[in-house]
Amino acid sequence: MMDYDVLILGGGIIGCAVAYELSKYNINIALIEKDYDVANDISCANTAVIYDGSEVYDDIMSKLENRGMNLIEKHCEKFKITYNKVGALRISSNQARYNMFNVMYKNAIERGIDGVHIVEDSAIYDIGLKLGININNALYSENIALISPYNLAVSYAEVAADNGVNFRLEEEVIDIKNISKGFKVTTNKNKFTCKFVINTIPNEISIDKRNQIHSEIRNKKMKYILLNEKLRNNINSIVINDIDDDTFIINMSTLSKGNLIGIKSNNDLSLKEELELSKSILHDMKKELITNIFTETYSKDSMFIDDSNLNDGYIKVTGNHYAKITIAPAIALDIEEKLKINMNIAKKRDYIDKKREVHVFRNMSKEQRNKVIALDKRYGNIICSCNNISEGEIVDSIRRPLGARTVEGVKRRTGIGIGSCNGSYCNMKIIKILAREMNNSLLNVVDDSMDSKILVGRIKEFNEI
Ligand SMILES: Cc1cc2nc3c(=O)[nH]c(=O)nc-3n(C[C@H](O)[C@H](O)[C@H](O)COP(=O)(O)OP(=O)(O)OC[C@H]3O[C@@H](n4cnc5c(N)ncnc54)[C@H](O)[C@@H]3O)c2cc1C
Repeated sequence: MMDYDVLILGGGIIGCAVAYELSKYNINIALIEKDYDVANDISCANTAVIYDGSEVYDDIMSKLENRGMNLIEKHCEKFKITYNKVGALRISSNQARYNMFNVMYKNAIERGIDGVHIVEDSAIYDIGLKLGININNALYSENIALISPYNLAVSYAEVAADNGVNFRLEEEVIDIKNISKGFKVTTNKNKFTCKFVINTIPNEISIDKRNQIHSEIRNKKMKYILLNEKLRNNINSIVINDIDDDTFIINMSTLSKGNLIGIKSNNDLSLKEELELSKSILHDMKKELITNIFTETYSKDSMFIDDSNLNDGYIKVTGNHYAKITIAPAIALDIEEKLKINMNIAKKRDYIDKKREVHVFRNMSKEQRNKVIALDKRYGNIICSCNNISEGEIVDSIRRPLGARTVEGVKRRTGIGIGSCNGSYCNMKIIKILAREMNNSLLNVVDDSMDSKILVGRIKEFNEI
């Protein structure tokens, strides 16, 4: 039986942010995650909106969003993650929605959120947009930003791991029980005891199953359409076309300078209808430009930290919300405060609040590139010609603390595979590098989880594939 001071259950963005904040203290911590990698459930397009708290009606969620946004901006600077403060314009051709814009604007003022404006007539076009519909009233927030959520979650996890948090991947929590001084947590592989449990698993595992909270489930489907980089529009900001209470379209740019269009509707729309809706923002939208279409669950349940068993040493994060990434660091700080009151903990003297250096070949000057190639010639071997990603970066993504062990893990850490070839040119090369670095057979390399092997077998026993 292994003993820890604190067990964090779940390695999504919230679990990783909590691990980061708590790794500053002199306590023995483990994080248990059932998947091969942390933050595996973050949206496939790897682009997240960082909200400012002006769009949400609930005051508590608004505070969490606003605090989260400020923290994420600081964390991105610290971890050298691009924080793209592009702003967001909310438009509508439905007169009734304008009233909602005015409510959001008033809310922003009352909440002390600066940088939110009602814009009218030609001022809308001064923001530099060429939209597909004519509008004369909009809500603009300067604050809204875009980041790579995976980069943020992995940075939290890497710094936590470097400061001693034990990440136990591929272990599924199956039971949590109160014992006389703390908890017994059982996984499919081990049994643990601990003084404190922080449960970030969004479903039903809770102490003795008596603490289940049945939040009202209001999950709806959200369709995403990804466009490759060929569509050159002049829209830099995020644009949201509010159609009615249940329908909106959002357009944002992606890391690979394409577009990601999200369509939220309660009706099953045909592709033709979705294209028509998208044209309200991207007037030159065409079916031929689509590189991928996927559906995710859209949710706006309020999130909160259930501390009703805090005296026993149990905290559970509940709810699911479209801005969960934005609020993750704010939730982590709240949990840190609660733990400080309930456990006698002290800051570590040798804490290193820094992520190990990453060489991003495509962002380097010729001189910088030559310098790293002289030290490690694998940086001179380009594996992804869409986005100029080198073998050196892939090897580093595997060898780092909490390094990638799956093709998806390499893609998310390096940005490989999201170019216009959609991975067709580089997939096999990534598989070979992973097998070599992990000293494993090519046949055992997985895409993202245990049951996602990529190569079925050899046709003939050649040494090379
Ligand atoms: C379509 C869509 C778009 C989004 N866009 C945005 C956005 O633009 N901005 C924003 O701020 N947020 C956004 N979000 C929210 C955000 O992406 C996710 O909700 C968030 O990544 C989930 O984080 P989490 O850590 O709380 O939860 P999860 O990622 O669900 O974390 C829980 C973790 O627990 C693990 N787990 C589950 N069961 C067990 C078990 N029994 N034992 C061990 N581990 C277990 C899971 O594998 C998972 O890693 C979006 C969400 C969706 C669906």
